[in-house]
Amino acid sequence: MEIKVFKFGGTSVQHAAGIRNLTTILRKYTVNQIIVVVSAMGKTTNALEEVLKHYMQKDIIALIEAFEKVQKYHLTILDELFPDKDHVVFKEVDSLFNQLRGYIRRGHLFIPHAGDYDYNYNYDFEYDQIVSYGELFSSAIIHNYLVDQGLNVTFIDVRDLIKTDKSYRDARVDWEVTSTLIRQSVPGYFSNQDKPGKIILTQGFIGSDLNGNTTTLGREGSDFTAAIFAYSLNVNEMTIWKDVPGVMNADPKWMKDAVKLDTLSYREAIELAYYGARVIHPKTIKPLENANIILRVKSFLDPDGEGTTVQNLTNWTISVPIFIRKQNQVLISLSSRDFSFIMEENLSQIFKILATYRVKVNVMQHSAISFSFCVDADLQKIPLLLNHFQKEYQTRYNEGVELITIRHYQPDVVEKLIRNRNVLMEQKSRITLQLVLTQM
Ligand code: ADP
Ligand code: ASP
Ligand code: MG
Repeated sequence: MEIKVFKFGGTSVQHAAGIRNLTTILRKYTVNQIIVVVSAMGKTTNALEEVLKHYMQKDIIALIEAFEKVQKYHLTILDELFPDKDHVVFKEVDSLFNQLRGYIRRGHLFIPHAGDYDYNYNYDFEYDQIVSYGELFSSAIIHNYLVDQGLNVTFIDVRDLIKTDKSYRDARVDWEVTSTLIRQSVPGYFSNQDKPGKIILTQGFIGSDLNGNTTTLGREGSDFTAAIFAYSLNVNEMTIWKDVPGVMNADPKWMKDAVKLDTLSYREAIELAYYGARVIHPKTIKPLENANIILRVKSFLDPDGEGTTVQNLTNWTISVPIFIRKQNQVLISLSSRDFSFIMEENLSQIFKILATYRVKVNVMQHSAISFSFCVDADLQKIPLLLNHFQKEYQTRYNEGVELITIRHYQPDVVEKLIRNRNVLMEQKSRITLQLVLTQM
């Protein structure tokens, strides 16, 4: 029996109707055994980041308010899905909220004021302990609902299988340990006597380090979790269910006339994800390519639609340009204080500093006396980074700029895009054009 790996993102399970829809989709695949990876519901991860912020700042009133907002959101969904108020799910979810409350209360006593300690390390560790609850809540609710609806489903806490290092907030997977654990344990849940349609439900985004502390794989990391399962079990294909018909040649929320791409090569998909097309997480494609696993991007609103397939295509061509927009960028320009040349030693030092703060450069440009680059406006890392650079270099920066990448660009579309806009930086290769623009 073929095993399929499905990933349902936050948007697909943002309300009770979404979870009912997920159940309907799973019922269509009764000939398969399915591993279902779920993300936190809706914008829960953002809401938990708010909780974390107030927790780190010791702002008790705002902290309680943010916590209650998360709780209320989940309780509303629970209420709608489970008419029987004695259902065990209410106790289960309540106990998760109590655990989180307990962690926050205890941890709160030990958080010194910023400046007294290694803020960076603690922030990332605390982030993972708190923000990971989004996936714990969603998986508990969805698991109980699927059981309630009569589906044959087993729950696995993914932290028992995905083992990572201690790089909290961007943990690196220990592939050897993780795939061995998955290979050893998952087939046992899919015994031959099982009726077809057996489902394993687990969480995306989270894992644990060798001490058992929860870690996270980076924002939007649930696609990657699904790929870890797909790779480890060497399945034929994996599907990520989205609110769009497939991968389009631009975000349809940005460009209304965006068109769906029926197929993509792994190479192109890696490039798109790398430049910031939110529809696929950048770490997802490589493990799939290594094991030659087809990735399907399909719409949970139109489950019978064809979607997009990403696979090994050597002669893949495209007739439309692909646009990728990254908003909320910071353009940083460094020059030496005496306006001497920026030399190799400077560049090597600049990259060392960037690596220390684990900041990814989205585009860069080098002139005789300056080095400019664009990074995501991470509220935590960028002030620390700027502070560091200011000690060594003359540092200028522009906040709130936009980075637009065009793959397979054509002159007329570029002209249209930059009309009435300020181009702060431009970079061209044969296939890719990148523009840093002031925000619209
Ligand atoms: P999930 O619910 O799985 O987390 P996301 O919201 O992160 O899904 O990703 C889906 C969104 O990605 C779409 O709603 C769309 O706005 C956006 N998106 C960005 N670029 C593209 C693209 N090229 N094709 C399709 N969707 C895109
Ligand atoms: N819930 C996490 C996030 O919003 C992971 C994911 O959705 O993929 O970043
Ligand atoms: Mg997402």
